This record gives sequence, C-alpha cells and structure tokens, in this order.
Amino acid sequence: MAPDQSLHSLVKAIRAGTVSSVDACRTVFERIEKRDGDIRSFVSTAPGAALARAAEIDALPEKDKARMPLAGAPVAVKDNICTRHSATTCASRMLKDFVPPYDAAVVEALERAGAVVVGKTNLDEFAMGSSTEMSWMGGTRNPHDPAYVPGGSSGGSAAAVAAGMVAAALGSDTGGSIRQPCSHCGVAGLKPTYGRVSRYGLVAFASSLDQIGPIAADVRDLGLLLSVIAAPDNRDSTCAGKIFENKETLYNGDVRGMKVGVPREYFGEGLSGGVRAAIETVVDNLRDAGVEIVDVSLPNVHNAVATYYIICTAEASSNLARYDGVKYGHRSPVAGGLADMYRTTREEGFGAEVKRRIMLGTYVLSSGYYDAYYLKAARVRTLIGLDFDRAFERCDAVISPVAPTAAFKIGEKCDDPLQMYLTDIYTVSANLAGVPGISVPCGKDGNLPVGAQFMAPKWREDTLLRLAFAAQKLGRYEGICG
Ligand code: GLN
Repeated sequence: MAPDQSLHSLVKAIRAGTVSSVDACRTVFERIEKRDGDIRSFVSTAPGAALARAAEIDALPEKDKARMPLAGAPVAVKDNICTRHSATTCASRMLKDFVPPYDAAVVEALERAGAVVVGKTNLDEFAMGSSTEMSWMGGTRNPHDPAYVPGGSSGGSAAAVAAGMVAAALGSDTGGSIRQPCSHCGVAGLKPTYGRVSRYGLVAFASSLDQIGPIAADVRDLGLLLSVIAAPDNRDSTCAGKIFENKETLYNGDVRGMKVGVPREYFGEGLSGGVRAAIETVVDNLRDAGVEIVDVSLPNVHNAVATYYIICTAEASSNLARYDGVKYGHRSPVAGGLADMYRTTREEGFGAEVKRRIMLGTYVLSSGYYDAYYLKAARVRTLIGLDFDRAFERCDAVISPVAPTAAFKIGEKCDDPLQMYLTDIYTVSANLAGVPGISVPCGKDGNLPVGAQFMAPKWREDTLLRLAFAAQKLGRYEGICG
C-alpha cells in the first residue's frame, strides 16, 4: 500500500482479497507513528478498536464486502464529530475528557459502509480558526513545510491525508474549514450543500453554516465518501435527505460544453500573484478542454467576511452556552457557588479565540444592537445568496481562489485576529449561501501548494466533482508528500 493509494483503489484491493483491512490499518498506524510526531495531525488514535473492527470486516464473506462501499478502508475523523466510547474533544480544554454516548450520523454511515475509524484529527478549538493553531492540544504543522500552518480548522484531517498517513478523512466547514486547509496542504476537499449531510453528532459551532464533508487526495474519493455520508436523517431537521449517487462518468475528464464563471470580485486586490497565476492556469486548461469561460459578478461578496463573522459568532455564543460545567465537560474545581462555578468553568475551559467569539456574538445579539448587526447581516446574507442565483443563470459553476495566499508561517497571524479572519474571504460566501464548494490542488506558490475553488448551485456536487477531477487531471498536479 503506497502512501498515495486512493481510498477507492484500496477498497477494491480489500474486496479482491489482495490486501486485508487489518494490514491497511496497520500501515496507517505505522505511518502515524513515523510521521505524526512532527506533524501532529491526530488528537487521538484507536488502534485496538480499529484493528478489531478491521479483522471483523476481513472475516466477512465476499458477498457482504461487495455490498460495502468502504469495505475495510481506514478513515480519520475530525475531533468535533462524535464517536461513541472515544473522546471527542473539539481540541478544547472544555471537552478534553468528554466521551459521547453516541456516534454522529456520519460515523454510523461510515461504519455501515464498512469503513474503519482509525482516529480523531486536530482542529482549531471548536472549529474556530483558519490555521489549527488555536487547538488546546497544540497546533498541527503543514507536511509540505513544518514551519507553515496546515490551514484550518480541519488542519489535522488535511495534513494527515497530505502526509499519506490515511487516504481520506472527514472535516467540517462552517466558513471554509474543509476547503482552505485542503488548499494549503495540497489535497482535495468538498463542502456539501447545506442540508446534504446530517449534522447529528457534529458539535455545533454555527448551526446555519456548519456542514460535514470529505477530504482526500483523489477527487473520486470525495464522491465516494459523499455517497456514504449523504443519507436521510430525521434527527437533524435541516437534513434534506437527498442521497448522492457517485457515478463513474463524473470522472471521465469530459467537460466539453460546460460553462464556468469567473467572478471578477474574487480576483481583485489582496490576491497573491502566485495564487492568481495558478488559478489562471486552471481557467486556461479548462478553456482548452472545451469549457466556455464567462465573466460573472457577485456584487455583494465584498461584505461576506463581515456578514459571516456576525452570523457565526451570534450562533456560536448561543451554541456554546451549554458548556457551563453542569452537564458535561470541564467543571472548575475552585468554584465557590453556582454563579461562580459557571464563570470559572468557562474562564478555564475556553481558549482566547472562543471567548472572543462568544463576546462578539453576545454583543451583536444584544438588545439595541440586534437590528444594527445581526438583522442587517441576515439581510446581506440573503443578498449574497441572490448573487449566486443570478451568477448561476449564466454558468454551471464559478471558479475562484480558495485563499488569498498559500499557507502562512506558524505564529504569523496569531496576534492579529482580523488578519486571520480576512484569510476566509473567498470561502465564507458558499456557507452563507448554502451552496456546495470544492477545493482541488492546482499548483504551487514557491514550495507550498495552492488550491482552486469551484462553487455550484445547491445539490450540484456532481458538477463540482466533474470540474475538479478534470482540473486536477489537466494540471497534472499531485499534492501528497508522504
Ligand atoms: N476560518 C473560519 C472561522 O474561523 C471558518 C471556520 C470553519 O469553517 N469551521 O470561523
């Protein structure tokens, strides 16, 4: 099993009996042992449970394995997705010992499909951040250059895949947390349409924006994983119950006659020359392959970052009210009375960025400021959604950068939250509008990877996968550095 073996080819080999699931999992743990001391992409691993599950799958009759789309394949899961009987920490001191009594819907789906969960990956605390430096466990490093961040908040998942430790992982994306780390680590990641994947068991950050999605080196594996995790679930009332059929024809490289829009607002000031050049090469390659390139405009996206940081902090302040030391997670041992216990628990349990968001969110929702901030942001959000509707009347998808620059240095933006927030400029709009977005490796800026983003109308992940596959193939760019 090579470090760059794709998930779908691994499943095929396990089903054919040329590789056992136990061997595949052992290889994963050996690689973690070898590489993760430096990269720190995992918060925890579960070799005992994983190898036992792998042995169970190996023992199944061939016809049972044939029915399992992920038969025996090792997969990593971001540590804000609940796993029964194993800690789900959200990289927070608040939940460092929290063991959920249930599995998230996506974990159930993975297991039904025969996947083996090998461990939980690092993230910015409660998925709030763009670099994975905000983890209480310590930051993850970029496998392409350990002096750089892997991006975030799903930096652990993206780095684990990029370093060839595991073929695929799940992440979550509230404002870019799947796409941006994938871009920085040179792997592919998909944020599905809002409502495509159940959020049951995903620790809530901003419920109207959060969505779980797949990360892999190979675009086909994103479709394979999406077909497994997109399942109806009545435990999440926003889950639309639309399944995703992963058709082989999406990956034939044929994009003739498709129309791709280039939103001019995404190529203005602040975009680094290296990233711009990489995206322009993708545009040229697609044009040569028979895609019609059209100019489009998203006139309200210049307000997207401000809108996003009002809405996500408002929702976060409400969602994180549950961590009060009473029901689960950390409880301060030093507290005097009930009010004091709430206060000291939250003071000790949360890191600086989480506290900043709770305070911002409480402020924008407070009476007197609600109309000026939250309500206005909700209205601008609608306008951004309408911008996409209008753009998609003229094209099948739009292309843009994922982030303004390649990965930045560890520590570079830690003391400047505003600079950190601005790195989300190209990704947050998809979450605000609820449309799907994909990040696909498309080149390098210096020695660091750069990704291209495609966004499509709701439920058109098929369009994204077709375009991303073609773009990666035409660019002949591979990001694995295992
Ligand atoms: N970087 C963004 C933020 O800090 C997005 C996070 C995410 O998608 N979870 O909020």
